Amino acid sequence: MLYIVATPIGNLDDVSKRALETLRSVDFILCEDTRVTKKLLNHFKIESKMISYHEHSKLTKMDYIAELLGNKKTLALVSDAGTPGISDPGNRLIEYLLSLMPDLEISPIPGPNAAVSALSISGFPTDEFLFLGFPPHKKGRETFFKDFATEKRTVVFYESPHRILKALEQLEKFLSPDRRLVICRELTKMFETIYRGNVGDIRSRLAESEICGEFVVVIHG
Ligand code: SAM
Repeated sequence: MLYIVATPIGNLDDVSKRALETLRSVDFILCEDTRVTKKLLNHFKIESKMISYHEHSKLTKMDYIAELLGNKKTLALVSDAGTPGISDPGNRLIEYLLSLMPDLEISPIPGPNAAVSALSISGFPTDEFLFLGFPPHKKGRETFFKDFATEKRTVVFYESPHRILKALEQLEKFLSPDRRLVICRELTKMFETIYRGNVGDIRSRLAESEICGEFVVVIHG
């Protein structure tokens, strides 16, 4: 049995009771970064053993995980924050394990996700939305933003603190001033800030402040 366990995106109180029970009961926890997960486990006094599994993990590591599952061990996969598999490691492992063990039971323990949290407070239509993960760093970055100009659905994407201002500058070239945005910074954390307005307004407000933390950008369709 493999559990895919969502963990907090900042505030540790957002962890679910089921997530804690699962992490406590499994034989091993597969962690994106054992140092990050260790903090969560220490906080909740969970002593389960950890195994590192990240996006660069080799086939031998995935074979080892398959072997554990084959030996009837129960495992939980977590990422550093939020829901594994959503712009985080998990999908490649699941696909590989299912190719070896098509009957493997995989069960989600749902919980926090930065994109869905941002959408939930946006006030923008969410009957349909387009989630795009992170913009490309170089090749294709301009086109990534350009396509939003004509996108009818609400768009949501992640951006790093180092690139958020640059992203807004690029967006400003393509979005009309009446196009509304919501930018969520440090959701669930002490310095949570929600910026609402057009791209130009938000860019100047952000430029005046210290750029730190994590960001989700939501654009009205
Ligand atoms: N799997 C995660 C999830 O379920 O949301 C996303 C992982 S992705 C590698 C990390 C990105 O998510 C950050 O760069 C940021 O864009 C966004 N993010 C994560 N936590 C956040 C938070 N507390 N506030 C705002 N954005 C956050």
